[in-house]
Amino acid sequence: MNSTFRIARIAGIDINVHATWIIALFLVAWSLSVGYFKDSYPNWQSSSYWLASIFSALLLFVCVLLHELAHSLLALAKGLPVHGITLFIFGGVSSIEMQDDEAHDEFLIAVVGPLSSLALAGIAWLATQLLTAGEIASAVLQYLVGINVMLALFNLVPGFPLDGGRVLRSIIWGITGDFEKATRIAASAGQFIGYFLIAAGVVWLWSGNVFSGLWTAFIGWFLNSAAEASKVQTVTSYAFRGLTAADLLEPEPETLTPDTPVATFVRDHILRHGERALPVVFGDRVLGIVSLSDVKRLPEAQWVNTPVTTIMSRDVLAVAPTDNVSEGLRLLAEHDVHQVLVLDDGRLLGVLTRAHLVEYLQLREELGLRPSSRHGSGTALP
Ligand SMILES: [Zn+2]
Repeated sequence: MNSTFRIARIAGIDINVHATWIIALFLVAWSLSVGYFKDSYPNWQSSSYWLASIFSALLLFVCVLLHELAHSLLALAKGLPVHGITLFIFGGVSSIEMQDDEAHDEFLIAVVGPLSSLALAGIAWLATQLLTAGEIASAVLQYLVGINVMLALFNLVPGFPLDGGRVLRSIIWGITGDFEKATRIAASAGQFIGYFLIAAGVVWLWSGNVFSGLWTAFIGWFLNSAAEASKVQTVTSYAFRGLTAADLLEPEPETLTPDTPVATFVRDHILRHGERALPVVFGDRVLGIVSLSDVKRLPEAQWVNTPVTTIMSRDVLAVAPTDNVSEGLRLLAEHDVHQVLVLDDGRLLGVLTRAHLVEYLQLREELGLRPSSRHGSGTALP
C-alpha cells in the first residue's frame, strides 16, 4: 500500500504528499478557526474564520515546502542527490543523500532551512507593512509572520533530526572528525527533547488544554522515535559502508531437504538449536524457507507425516552477494526477521543473520575500527 502521492516536480525534485498531510491540513485549519483567529479577531463572522484559517493552513504548508526546497536546492548545488520532498502530518522531509565527508556541507544544508523560514517571516511582515489589504488578508499575513518565526526557532532546537540537531552534529563532526560520535550525541539530544515535549504535552493536557497538549506530546513522540531510528540507521549504515553481503555472510548454513518431516525440523532444529527458520534446499537450489510460524499453523498430529515443503514459504527474502550489507539490514528490519539468504543466481551461498551483524558491530566497536569514508542521510522536520 502506497500512501504517498506525487503532486509536483520542482527543479527535478519530486514533491510528494503523504496521506496524513490531509489530517494535518484539517487540524491546523480547525485549530486556527476555533482558537487563534477567534481569540485575535473576536468580531468576525464565522465564514471569515474559516476563510482565513483555510488560507493560512494552505500557506503554512507552502512555507514548509519552501523551507524544504531551500534544503534540497542547496544540496543539489553541492552535488548531493535529492530523492524528493514529502509533506506529512508533522511537517516536511527532504530526502537528501549525504555522500561527501564534508561536515560544513551538512552545516550549510541544515541551517539554510530555518534561515529561509526567517526570510519568509520577513517577507510576510513587509507585506503587512506595504500592502493595504483587507482585514482577513492582513490577518493571514500576520499569522504567517509568527508561524514562520516559530518554524525557524523550533527547527533550530539542537536535537537530531531537527535542523538544529544537524547543525550540532556537523559542528561536533567538524571538530572531532568522528561522524558516529557526532550522530550519537546529536540524536541523544533529539531523544531528550522528544521526552521533554511529551512531558510538556502531558502537563498541558492536564491543565485542560487538550488539543495543544496532545499535539505537543505527539510531536515529542515523533521526534523521539525519529531520533532513535536515525541514530541506529545512520550509525549502522555507516558502519557497514563498503561491505557486501559476501563479506559478512555465514557460509554453509543449516538446511533441510524437501522430504524432511516437520517433526524432525521441530525436534532437531527449533528445540535443539533454537533455529527459527531454515532454508529448504534441493541440490544447491533453494526451494523455500520454513519457519516456526509455518509450523504453528499445522496441527501437531500432522507433524510426523508432513514434509517441510508442504508448509514452507516460497517467498524467500534474499540478497545477492554483491549487494551492500545495508540492503540486508533493510530487509531484516522491514520484515522483522532474523535472517536473509544470500543467493547467487538461486544458489545458496550463506545467510546474513541479525545476530551476526550485531556481533560484527560490537567487535568493531571493541577494536575501535573506523572506515575511511563517511555516510549519512538528510531529513528535516519543520
Ligand atoms: Zn529544515
